[in-house]
Amino acid sequence: MLVQKKSTCMLCSVGCEFIIETIDDEAVNLEYDKDNPVTGGVLCAKGNYMLELINHPLRLIEPQINGKVVDWNEAIRKTSDELLAHREKSDAGIILAGDASVEDAKTAELFAETCLGTGRLAIYFATGDDTVQKALTMASIPNRAAGLNDIGKSTCTIAVGNPFEVGPVIAGKVLKARYARRGNIFGVISNKENMTSRFATIHHYGNERKLLSQLLRVVADRSEGDELGLKKLIKELIPATENPDVVKLGEAFVKSPSSVLILETQDPVKAQLASAVVSVAGADKRLFCVNTYGNAKGICEAVKSTVSVNEIITAVDHGVIKTLIVLGTDIVKGIPGRNIEAVLEKLDFLAVGAPFGNETKQSANVIFPTALWLETEGIYNGKHLQPVIDPPGAALPYGDILRQLAEAMGKALPQVTPEPVEAPQQLNEETLRVILKESMETVPEPAVQSTVTQFADGSLTSNIQWLQLQERDAW
Ligand code: SF4
Repeated sequence: MLVQKKSTCMLCSVGCEFIIETIDDEAVNLEYDKDNPVTGGVLCAKGNYMLELINHPLRLIEPQINGKVVDWNEAIRKTSDELLAHREKSDAGIILAGDASVEDAKTAELFAETCLGTGRLAIYFATGDDTVQKALTMASIPNRAAGLNDIGKSTCTIAVGNPFEVGPVIAGKVLKARYARRGNIFGVISNKENMTSRFATIHHYGNERKLLSQLLRVVADRSEGDELGLKKLIKELIPATENPDVVKLGEAFVKSPSSVLILETQDPVKAQLASAVVSVAGADKRLFCVNTYGNAKGICEAVKSTVSVNEIITAVDHGVIKTLIVLGTDIVKGIPGRNIEAVLEKLDFLAVGAPFGNETKQSANVIFPTALWLETEGIYNGKHLQPVIDPPGAALPYGDILRQLAEAMGKALPQVTPEPVEAPQQLNEETLRVILKESMETVPEPAVQSTVTQFADGSLTSNIQWLQLQERDAW
């Protein structure tokens, strides 16, 4: 019997919905959710890949020990024995992919605290989603997050960076809004020409930090009221700008009744400057932050006790960590500039969980087949998703694997219920001074990489490399 189930794309934070059709527990079709009031069923090329992800012939379906297929009991026992052997010295660590559900990320935090010790969990966000999200919680104001619908109705939209590349569905919404009425404005602030800037009515190339500071000064000069009491400080610290593009853009942003700033960046300072622009411009202005990882915001808000992936890798390199679990991400391919394979050789034991074969797996003693978000229940990007299909073979969600490992180590982990999220800190004078000081420093722009190749599991991404080409051709 044909069954239709809705789910959401997690290949960026736009969160487009779609329908997967199954017959006898086999995913047979991807349908556009045409009645969807927000997207009308539209998906970008990445979103169109959902059926391929589920059915890909390279999916891992059985646990393995040293290349030999085993059952879960053996794989868990072998790994828990290794963890227990190293526990006295606390020299074990875990790296979890940023495509986890909130519950699975919280379970990983609990697992690290209970079974490994503090400072042993890193969550992998290749594109700096985590630093941007942390920055936004330091300098934001509640209830200013825009949705896709807000973008579609905006009479003045400012994009920072290149959001059309990360979340192409945004382009449709922005352009619909831009052409809805003559005089609507779409401005882009970016360091160079890109896919997004080609559609701009006002575009200014240059240092994005500097341009955002200038924009902040313009909105402070032109907006009414001073709810946050920051205008005096802004005028004191940021010189008035003569840049006509920025002045025009700032004036329109303040004047338009439904302005939205779309932020695509890996730089926490730009994120805070953009948040300051929205905060100071007026209570009706909104911010839409585009993350490469669909659930980055949810994970960053829920999980606090993490270290960076680089800290874990450095600890392995220096012999401080001798046992490592890597779930859902290909760190060999995903950390540019370091010879990760050589570092992993220093480990006594490596367990790798992944939905597909990948290069990190080549160094693993134990391999766990893992489920995709489409095959698990959990909170992703603020939505409670149900699986559209069972995971293939013996594949399990990250959280189930960690609970089994903890149990084998004599520590039962509870099922995690996400807690209410703390409201972000309101932007204040002290934070603004720090932001503006940092904004004066010119930092090199990150190398432009395809967001497709940066997403989540390197194995997954190598399987969808063709999309990168397809997208480039399309643009
Ligand atoms: S825009 Fe983002 S969420 Fe929408 S289909 Fe594309 S990758 Fe998925």
